[in-house]
Amino acid sequence: MTEQSPRTLIIKRVHEEAREIRAFDMLPEGAARAHGLAFQPGQVAVLQVGGDGERAYFAIASAPEDEEVEFLVKQTNSPASSALYGMPVGGRVRLLEIAGHGFALDEQKGRDLVFVAMGTGVAPLRSALRSVLRRADDFGQIVVLYGARTPEHFCYSDEVESWKAAGVELRQVVSNPSGYEWAGSTGYVQSLLDHVLPSLSDPVALVCGSREMIEQTRDRLHTMGFAPERILTNY
Ligand SMILES: Cc1cc2nc3c(=O)[nH]c(=O)nc-3n(C[C@H](O)[C@H](O)[C@H](O)COP(=O)(O)OP(=O)(O)OC[C@H]3O[C@@H](n4cnc5c(N)ncnc54)[C@H](O)[C@@H]3O)c2cc1C
Repeated sequence: MTEQSPRTLIIKRVHEEAREIRAFDMLPEGAARAHGLAFQPGQVAVLQVGGDGERAYFAIASAPEDEEVEFLVKQTNSPASSALYGMPVGGRVRLLEIAGHGFALDEQKGRDLVFVAMGTGVAPLRSALRSVLRRADDFGQIVVLYGARTPEHFCYSDEVESWKAAGVELRQVVSNPSGYEWAGSTGYVQSLLDHVLPSLSDPVALVCGSREMIEQTRDRLHTMGFAPERILTNY
């Protein structure tokens, strides 16, 4: 956990990222340009939304080096998520604390990195990836495996082009392709591991998703010979 007093964050921009998923760029009240918050890539913010005290975990989707902090919010039945999802530019939320350990990227220098993310788990993935791409020479090959429910649920469609241009190998998988023109892989994101791991040397996996997905991915990586210390989660 990062020691820091609760702060008010002001929403500066809202953009539709995918079906029922919006991104919110925020700055602490009083900050003109840079957010000035201390956090590690992949860490999670505890946000309090609205006056009635609804609070929830939201992974920070921006890198520490970015000027604003970004959150990716899915419209769900969770009171905090649905309240934040509907907030306009100028809206205010409370940042109560920053939790989770995030990803200690400096300890992975020289290694190939395999990011594995499902759904809004792309938020902590993006935070770490944006940090990594600022110093890509420090790392080996970078692979991103990203699973979504349908093609309409993939976030950061514009940005992934810059990831690919920077040499990232991106593989996407959809679990529910019916009704869509989707010629790519189908199923859960873990199924992509078999195809990419044999080509990597000394890789480390950075896994972002639900607890169930993390456990299943961990089991699969163990079976494939990954040492426990080579499987990282953000919280
Ligand atoms: C610490 C923490 C941080 C969080 N941060 C955020 C946040 O920043 N924003 C936010 O909106 N919510 C956040 N949540 C809420 C929660 O993480 C998400 O609802 C959850 O990750 C599911 O994501 P989703 O609803 O987008 O996935 P879904 O859309 O339900 O699923 C995404 C894809 O994963 C597939 N899938 C389902 N089960 C598995 C499985 N077992 N293995 C592999 N793939 C599977 C689905 O079929 C689909 O293809 C957070 C929760 C915690 C505890």
